[in-house]
Amino acid sequence: MPIKNNRLTKEQYETNFADIHPPFENKTAAQVEASRCLFCYDAPCTKSCPTHIDVPKFIKQIVTDNVKGSAHTIFSSNIMGAGCSKVCPVEKLCEGSCVFNLLHEPPIPIAKLQRYSTEKAMKENWQLFERKNSPSGAGGKKVAIVGAGPAGLSCAHVLSREGIDVTIFEKESKGGGLMTYGIAAYKVTPQFCEDEVNYITAIGGIEIKYNQELGKDITLAQLKKEFDAVYLGMGVGVARQLDIPGEKLEGVVDAISFIYDIRSKGYPSVPVGDKVAVIGMGMTAIDAATQAKRLGAKEVTMVYRRTEAEKPCTQAELDIAMLDGCEIVWLAAPKKLKGSQGKVKQLVCSKMTLGEPDASGRRSPVDTGETFTLDVDMVIKAAGQVPFEKLVKKYKLDNKNGKIVINENCATNIKGVFAGGDAVNGGKEVVDAVQAGKDGARAILNYLF
Ligand SMILES: Cc1cc2nc3c(=O)[nH]c(=O)nc-3n(C[C@H](O)[C@H](O)[C@H](O)COP(=O)(O)OP(=O)(O)OC[C@H]3O[C@@H](n4cnc5c(N)ncnc54)[C@H](O)[C@@H]3O)c2cc1C
Ligand code: SF4
Repeated sequence: MPIKNNRLTKEQYETNFADIHPPFENKTAAQVEASRCLFCYDAPCTKSCPTHIDVPKFIKQIVTDNVKGSAHTIFSSNIMGAGCSKVCPVEKLCEGSCVFNLLHEPPIPIAKLQRYSTEKAMKENWQLFERKNSPSGAGGKKVAIVGAGPAGLSCAHVLSREGIDVTIFEKESKGGGLMTYGIAAYKVTPQFCEDEVNYITAIGGIEIKYNQELGKDITLAQLKKEFDAVYLGMGVGVARQLDIPGEKLEGVVDAISFIYDIRSKGYPSVPVGDKVAVIGMGMTAIDAATQAKRLGAKEVTMVYRRTEAEKPCTQAELDIAMLDGCEIVWLAAPKKLKGSQGKVKQLVCSKMTLGEPDASGRRSPVDTGETFTLDVDMVIKAAGQVPFEKLVKKYKLDNKNGKIVINENCATNIKGVFAGGDAVNGGKEVVDAVQAGKDGARAILNYLF
């Protein structure tokens, strides 16, 4: 049962990693769907979108073939509207609140329509925003942003529109954050992510300095000295450990590194086992499991310590994993990993039952004392990510287990230093990070002027 790479043909990789949500075939198809919209007063879709895109307005603009206006409506609220149209878990956001759900009819395909307008805008390179001259009396204000992920890019765009010069310090060699290095390859391609970063920065006044890591190549004191304000949008980092025996065996990997390799090295380069177990049931676990299957793993089993009712992923995501043929074992927690000659061979799990609700309000898993064993040659750990606690503590930033604490003005305890996105919330969605970046930029503008 070897772990090996290059299991499939070029064509198989292409098919397996093809766009999971294809676009409309043509203008008529988009307009037919757009025409179904009831243009609700007090639109629930707009309220359910964390960036509050005026959904009925942009859909109406598609109906009247005003695609440029539609893209402007979307980008005014969400400069990553193109990326969000491909990655938002819409069933729990805008589309989940569409009134058609109450009528037992399919909701308006909001994300697909959003993609229709924004993709055209990017393809045609429509520059829909003008950079203001520096605000009067404030010429030359400069802001440093740490991290070129959704939070950092969204913050940078709002600031740049207001005439502020922004420098982003990014530790990787590409921008986009987890859009580029984390989200499943069948949702967004590396080329799309690069195009999106270029489209956002085309407004001007935003310089991204790559391979520049806060805490290694630059310090917070330096940024504070050289810039008028600092925004920390560095996300969350390392994968949570399982803390069970055998975790160091060969073949035990963390989901973030596994997905990072798929995104940065290319499909044939990434080794995968015949029998893979994935620990966890969040979005990362689903992405790891489905991509392991699509790389050619024969069996993929997902192990989760609670029941389906408490799963953190959405039903749509679970459906993808099940359609890909992944097995699901509910009420099972990893207990130990057994190996031979340094390689993982078995995953021993405790059978769980549900006890009293915990702090999250969900019933907590309780060990029954019984166990079962799965034969494996690869185990992917996807039990969540932990914040950059060491870095945050090094700079004496107020934090809760590494998550930066901010006030209602997005300000940290250090004067002139603001923060947002996953680094603050511990890990949500791209669309939440985009809104956090907008909030951070507004707070910085209030602070500067
Ligand atoms: C596997 C996985 C799948 C996901 N799938 C989805 C999905 O399908 N849909 C969805 O909406 N969300 C998804 N998410 C969540 C989403 O990607 C994040 O919520 C979002 O990217 C957060 O944006 P951010 O800007 O706060 O952080 P990030 O995207 O993490 O960006 C932070 C940036 O800061 C850089 N950085 C970190 N430390 C430093 C430092 N010390 N110095 C300089 N730069 C630094 C990083 O390299 C990165 O570029 C997924 C997350 C993961 C892990
Ligand atoms: S950004 Fe996401 S949640 Fe908001 S309207 Fe678009 S697809 Fe829906």
